[in-house]
Amino acid sequence: MLLVEPGLYIGDVATAADVGQLAAPGITHVLTVDTEPPVLPEAIAHLWLPVRDDAGADLLSNLDRCDRFIREAVGTHRGAVLVHCHAGVSRSAAVVTAYLMKTKQLQFQDAYSRLQSIKPDVKMNEDFVNQLLLYEMMGCEVDISSSVYKQYRLQKITEKFPELQGLPQDVFAEDPNAAGVPRNSDALYRCRKCRRCLFHSSSILSHVFGIGVAAFSHKKIAPHLSSGASPEKTKCTSYFIEPVRWMESALLGVMDGQLLCPKCSSKLGSFNWYGDQCSCGRWITPAFQIHKNRVDEVKQLLIPGLHKVVTSGLKSTQ
Ligand SMILES: [Zn+2]
Ligand SMILES: [Zn+2]
Repeated sequence: MLLVEPGLYIGDVATAADVGQLAAPGITHVLTVDTEPPVLPEAIAHLWLPVRDDAGADLLSNLDRCDRFIREAVGTHRGAVLVHCHAGVSRSAAVVTAYLMKTKQLQFQDAYSRLQSIKPDVKMNEDFVNQLLLYEMMGCEVDISSSVYKQYRLQKITEKFPELQGLPQDVFAEDPNAAGVPRNSDALYRCRKCRRCLFHSSSILSHVFGIGVAAFSHKKIAPHLSSGASPEKTKCTSYFIEPVRWMESALLGVMDGQLLCPKCSSKLGSFNWYGDQCSCGRWITPAFQIHKNRVDEVKQLLIPGLHKVVTSGLKSTQ
């Protein structure tokens, strides 16, 4: 086991299973990122994340928990924490790097380099690198309401196809047309034909932010803003959104299909779990797209005690 920071150690499963090795530096907390938990003395506080070391694994969603646990160990308890996985090379390295990013306000590469200078054999898998870059984009705080996170989550679900039976309910945004859904001030989008409410602006997964490192590598974060590009060619003619509850029956058991208005059945767009290309050229996976010319944007003004809905211009612009 190696000391990374005062009170913070990194190691492998053999270290975690060896009571003598844990006792020497006074380990009080163990954070396991492995499919099997080690047997630990009862006095040691333990956080176990059964995360595999492969491209389908979701480490990002657990990073805030890891950070809290490590802080509690070295801060509140003034103890010492061992972060370990099986080999001490990939998963534990990703957790420790994320912790350094957050507590030292370091960019991913700087935090990772710092860890590599302490433990030269660390080499996290490429997917964890991408997840930590998203973590950096979110300001080292996992914001589940952000477009970046929603898109990431959908990608992780797609990777589980076709074994996945049914979709986790929390990936669906509430149907804005359903009774009891709290009204908010986000703009609403309605079917142009029958006026049924379809989704809120908060469900739009903007691809301005890109979908991971791919978005950085070719510096086309905002294609329509880059000079020299023809605005005609780079215009997005669809909204790419998160799945909304009314789509659920259409999405069941199929990889792609049409999205129809739940009220008047007019065609609104399409979905494809393998992804689809926006008219601006950006590939989006998975894709739930609504043609902009099939919906109208309705801006809402919420005044406490008086719900006044103001309809904006008929043409939605974004
Ligand atoms: Zn686009
Ligand atoms: Zn309709």
